[in-house]
Amino acid sequence: MAGFLTDWRQRATGKALAVVRPSTTEEVASIVKLCHKFSVPVVPQGGNTSLVLGSIPDNSGKAIVLSLARLNKIRSVDALNNTMTVEAGCILKNVQDAAADADRLFPLHLASESSCTIGGNLSANAGGEAVLRYGNTRELCLGLEVVTAQGDIWSSLRGLRKDNSSYDLRDLFIGAEGTLGIITAAVLKLFPRPKATLTALAALNTPHDALLLLARTLSHCNGALTGFELMSNYSLQLVHKHFPQLHFPLPLEHPQYALLELSDSESDQHATALLEKTLGEAIEAGEVIDATVATSIAQSKGIWQLRENISAAQAHEGKNIKHDISIMPSRIADFIATTDALLQQHFPGCRMVTFGHLGDGNLHYNVSAPEGISADEFIGRQAEVNRVVYDSVYRFQGSIAAEHGVGAMKRDEIRAYQPAVEIRLMQTIKQALDPDNLMNPGKVV
Ligand code: FAD
Ligand code: ZN
Repeated sequence: MAGFLTDWRQRATGKALAVVRPSTTEEVASIVKLCHKFSVPVVPQGGNTSLVLGSIPDNSGKAIVLSLARLNKIRSVDALNNTMTVEAGCILKNVQDAAADADRLFPLHLASESSCTIGGNLSANAGGEAVLRYGNTRELCLGLEVVTAQGDIWSSLRGLRKDNSSYDLRDLFIGAEGTLGIITAAVLKLFPRPKATLTALAALNTPHDALLLLARTLSHCNGALTGFELMSNYSLQLVHKHFPQLHFPLPLEHPQYALLELSDSESDQHATALLEKTLGEAIEAGEVIDATVATSIAQSKGIWQLRENISAAQAHEGKNIKHDISIMPSRIADFIATTDALLQQHFPGCRMVTFGHLGDGNLHYNVSAPEGISADEFIGRQAEVNRVVYDSVYRFQGSIAAEHGVGAMKRDEIRAYQPAVEIRLMQTIKQALDPDNLMNPGKVV
């Protein structure tokens, strides 16, 4: 059972009575009925890539892990309706490939896409690298099939874009992290495949300049801008140190870098012209210091590799204190400046690994130990660091759980920041749908 009991970052290992691996919705329902009868807690698990200890059991040894991995059929693709119906255990990459086979795009894009499952993506309402254009997983789903906490099957797998015939039950289960029921299948939205995808890297002085570039690119390229990622110099220094084989198309001497991705419905030439014009103007306006537009798929991939290896580079460097936060883009530069200064006051010399999805206001705002202090010693101060960061997020009216969810890791933390009414409403919903608290207990509420 070992692989099912330890989380992705190997920070915690739980215990379970058993790992159960059903391959049909009916089997899931039978298992949940039995668990309901004998009061056995159920921890649903997809790819087990949760970064908030959401998909592993606690230490009591009373729960079962219910792996959806064998529930992995693409049930149908309806190209005319721009939808596909897939089972919860389908790996995200396989969903993307099945859409491409029908000449369509399923736009959810995460660095964990070769391991995570669509059921996990829906349950965490995952974000990722194309939220700016296509929204979170919630926005990509039209219908669900769910096994309730009592073991009933609720099927609403209709590919309708308008349906006001009930409360929005679908949106209740999306983002619930398995605490209200088990998602077994979903109808997903598909989009036209872009004719060209182009990536660029820009060097900048400040996050504020990145915001000006974002606004400029949105007004020139509007719907074509699918990704806009920020990477601080120190984030990329770590990538350079631990992945020296990766090529940096710009000198690694500027304070900030922005990665832009354009998905164009016309042609490569059209996309290139748009991006070059936008970046040229931004350089003239002093927002951008230097920029490069990829001229091949290999170059585009190379730029993305810099971004996607930041997490791995941090892991090689040693543990640091991670925050997955969101702030309105209009206030994010101010947030970074203010919070960086506060952290320097409290933890002089701490090093900031700040990167993420600036286009939608979601930053991975990670704090590494000052030089000369061991990572383990610094981790001992995690609670103090969290307090400085989360209090600041609160003052900027942001969220301390932007895209990775709450899980077991932030369950107590969110109570300090969400209005009491909100927590009470959540508890009321949980009590109504899962009165015996058997669905992923200890997570979220
Ligand atoms: P799991 O980790 O197995 O489960 C996640 C949660 O959903 C748990 O609470 C679990 O109990 C519940 N669950 C799983 N399946 C079901 C189901 N069928 N029914 C009900 N509940 C269920 N997240 C982002 O949002 N954006 C990113 O860019 C991103 N990048 C990542 C990069 C890496 C390298 C890694 C390791 C993780 C990343 N994540 C990211 C976090 C994670 O990949 C996503 O949250 C993903 O959506 C989880 O999918 P999973 O199948 O692994 O779910
Ligand atoms: Zn992310």
